[in-house]
Amino acid sequence: MDCEEDGWVMLSALTHYVYCPRRCALVNLEQEFTENIYTMRGRAVHENVDIESSRQEGYVRVERAMPLWSKRLGLTGKADVVEFRDSVPYPVDYKSGKKGRRTPEAVQLCGQALCLEEMFSVPVPKGALFFHGSRERVEVAFTDDLRRRVETATEAVRKMLSRNEMPPPVNDDRCPNCSLNESCMPSVVANKRSVRQALDALYAPDDDGGAP
Ligand code: SF4
Repeated sequence: MDCEEDGWVMLSALTHYVYCPRRCALVNLEQEFTENIYTMRGRAVHENVDIESSRQEGYVRVERAMPLWSKRLGLTGKADVVEFRDSVPYPVDYKSGKKGRRTPEAVQLCGQALCLEEMFSVPVPKGALFFHGSRERVEVAFTDDLRRRVETATEAVRKMLSRNEMPPPVNDDRCPNCSLNESCMPSVVANKRSVRQALDALYAPDDDGGAP
């Protein structure tokens, strides 16, 4: 499946978009991907769950690297782990680092739940983020608000990619930890934009549109 051509949005794009729309565009439109300590840790964690497998652990069937899709949303990707208890799927996403407030990751996890609901025709009320650094599992309830955020972000990503749009940098406290900082150059681009806006304002025509 050619995701870009068919308008499918990757689940991973939701995490990038909710973190910073420009990051999502850099990764998906310009194929920018630079490693930093956070991405290296993330890759190491995912190496353990990236091989498709299925096994029974007591009463729970555990699927790893499970392909997911939602035709309704045009959303696709893979779940690190899906546990099935009494035929109810429970997605678990592996994250490097310690437990913390992770809204972008919670949105992606909820995107996985919406795919699972459509694929198995059952409600998926919750799932979990597993933090490798602190070896903690944090349960996430898929509230109406989170579900709406998935739908809004999916549509926004699709629009941004189809129009080849490159959003301006957020240039805030998200940037120092972003692995794309060097290629994005948030402060340089933001400064250029403010100079351009100042120049535009300076040379804007008078209200009557005429020359001075
Ligand atoms: S450096 Fe900042 S503006 Fe650039 S992609 Fe990363 S978070 Fe976004």
